[in-house]
Amino acid sequence: MEKRITGYTTLIGLLATPIKHTSSPKMHNEAFSYLGLDYAYLAFEVGPDRLEDAVKGLKAMQARGCNVSMPNKTIIHEYLDKLSPAAELTGAVNTVVNDNGVLTGHITDGVGYMTSLKDKGFDAIGKKMTIVGAGGAATAIEVQAALDGVRELSIFNKKDAFYDRAVQTVKDINEKTNCKATLFDLDDKEALRREIADSDIFTNATGVGMKPLEGQTYVEKDMLRPDLIVTDVVYMPTKTRLLEIAEEIGCPTMNGLGMMLFQGAKAFELWTGKEMPIEHMKEFLGIK
Ligand code: NAD
Repeated sequence: MEKRITGYTTLIGLLATPIKHTSSPKMHNEAFSYLGLDYAYLAFEVGPDRLEDAVKGLKAMQARGCNVSMPNKTIIHEYLDKLSPAAELTGAVNTVVNDNGVLTGHITDGVGYMTSLKDKGFDAIGKKMTIVGAGGAATAIEVQAALDGVRELSIFNKKDAFYDRAVQTVKDINEKTNCKATLFDLDDKEALRREIADSDIFTNATGVGMKPLEGQTYVEKDMLRPDLIVTDVVYMPTKTRLLEIAEEIGCPTMNGLGMMLFQGAKAFELWTGKEMPIEHMKEFLGIK
């Protein structure tokens, strides 16, 4: 890869902490090489204390933009000039585009999830989805699903620090989109059973199923049925306890790898104006 970097190469950054484990540089640099695009993608260990300086630095160096991950997703908007409608509704940014010094924040996690569903042949438009989560990933999916035309969303979350965020998300979706959203307490198992029974798609958009909650799920096997599409945003492990149970029942399933690929593909398109070579990337990243 370093052989193709010259004085003309344009930088794209990733600002997050911890971030050394990320597979984003591997994905984007392979896609740049494959298409012969003169960009280089580098990860920088930056937290909220140095975020403003880092953003100013990228702008001063005329970088094309950056990705943003935890814990900067809900803070970086303070240092940007504009937000996309989805970033505005979600209150989070994972992609920044620099157009001649004007920085626009986008959120591509929701698009990534919805595109991944479509890529699997799962149709969510006009359907009802029950989704668990109120964090960054969940909010992005809920907002994008509502914007794209999912008919009804039943959102569940624990009554933890994220619950109030879900209250706001439900209010925004009901006020600004045609989707009907309702919020429930995840501890209300009867409501969870009832809403799943009435849904076409069930989604886990929390960290339950990955470390340190690996092997766990809040779903009971008899809440699922074979024609229910079951999806999980977790991709490490690739098969969570939820997806194991769903497969035992015979449900069509999807893990978070496709969402990871397609959120990256959308960011790639925003920076380069080119489509990411999806089939090549699936092969490169080992995504079935
Ligand atoms: P976050 O910290 O913003 O949100 C955490 C969510 O998990 C909240 O809704 C919280 O209430 C819930 N939660 C935490 N502990 C719980 C428990 N014991 N039981 C039930 N709910 C619990 O995190 P995030 O950034 O939204 O990430 C959530 C998951 O999504 C992570 O597993 C992350 O890896 C995954 N993710 C995947 C992609 C992808 O591209 N596939 C992208 C972003 C995030």
